[in-house]
Amino acid sequence: MNERDSEHMIAELQEKENYELTSDSTEADLILINTCSVRERPVHKLFSELGAFNKKKKENAKIGVCGCTASHLGKEIIKRAPYVDFVLGARNVSKITEVLHKPKAVEIDIDYDESQFAFSEFRGSQHKAYINISIGCDKSCTFCIVPKTRGDEISIPTDLILKECERATQAGVQEIFLLGQNVNNYGRRFSGEHEKVNFTELLRRISAIEKVKRIRFTSPHPFHMDDEFIDEFASNPKICKSMHMPLQSGSSEILKMMKRGYSKEWFLERAAKLRLMVPNVSISTDIIVAFPGESDKDFEETLDVMRQVRFEQVYSFKYSPRPLTEAAEMSNVVESELGSERLAYLQGLQNSITDEITAGYVGEIFEVMFEETREGGYIAGRSDNNVMIKVQADESLLGTFAKVKVTKNGRMAQIGEILA
Ligand code: SAH
Repeated sequence: MNERDSEHMIAELQEKENYELTSDSTEADLILINTCSVRERPVHKLFSELGAFNKKKKENAKIGVCGCTASHLGKEIIKRAPYVDFVLGARNVSKITEVLHKPKAVEIDIDYDESQFAFSEFRGSQHKAYINISIGCDKSCTFCIVPKTRGDEISIPTDLILKECERATQAGVQEIFLLGQNVNNYGRRFSGEHEKVNFTELLRRISAIEKVKRIRFTSPHPFHMDDEFIDEFASNPKICKSMHMPLQSGSSEILKMMKRGYSKEWFLERAAKLRLMVPNVSISTDIIVAFPGESDKDFEETLDVMRQVRFEQVYSFKYSPRPLTEAAEMSNVVESELGSERLAYLQGLQNSITDEITAGYVGEIFEVMFEETREGGYIAGRSDNNVMIKVQADESLLGTFAKVKVTKNGRMAQIGEILA
């Protein structure tokens, strides 16, 4: 989502202010840092990076801090780094060309409604288009700062999304990647009068656009994975067969404390249904270890879910207390060292699961869309079910599809050869 916000800002600056991109910050007239505040570490990194950019920047070059950390620290950023020219929150992206001309502006209103703002066009990739379908987040997960930095959830009007899909595919894009904090909660609230369109219906309408070849989305919420949604996912050939199912914890007790809205049993049942209906599906997840009150037994429940579901990919984090969240007030904290031990154990378990899964890929044939070049004369892309595969081939194949047979396996990318 941050990447897409950056693309929006780049587009507005190119179109309305004649800026061009540079990869050399010492040449830049404007340096924007787009921040995340989901965990604490990136927030610390912000101030060291700001200092480094400030030292090396061209005279009179402006520095702006954008994104979630901008939303929650606001003017504090200018207090700590007085050379910062403006602060622009994650909910105020469309105001980039305004704050540029307002010295020391701090625009961080989380009630600002930019769900109908028509951004200018810029895409980092020619083949894949990120498209936002909602702003904000209506959940109240007790560990998460996002609702406090991105505000309430508002769906972007369906016709705007469809138009964006049309434009992107006219320009050569094959894959549409839908973005939102809870994509499958789409349609819950629009800012004006709007026909009732839920996520499943949105998927149907996007897939009706002829030039759309593939549809991906992130993140869906396990709570909203109803049968209608899973049926559409299983039966619509344009929807890529890879599902992100953020588990967070395998303990129903901890899930309650996190206010996730589902239990261990619900999660397992949904995952089993997916595996049954879509045999080649790949399921990825997010897990937090050492949430306040997490006992050895709770942690064991998480490992149990991992062993049962056998996720293709796991993004795992040690719980990080965040300001403005309920969990930050909880007193039963898990010691940091124990948290690190649990994280290491969990990652070890997942590595062995991943190794077993990827070993099974050798000899399999996948349809890959090539997206990028890799060192050593390789080009790489993903299969429909999200297996990253690289082959020795010419760049001219970027943006095309091919059947690829995997010849050698690795944890991060498989090596394969194109079938004639
Ligand atoms: N709405 C998105 C969440 C985006 S944040 C979703 O449901 O996927 C991405 C991930 O960061 C979360 O899924 C969670 O695993 C992790 N995360 C969020 N807050 C955290 C915290 N306080 N400490 C550690 N990890 C956290």
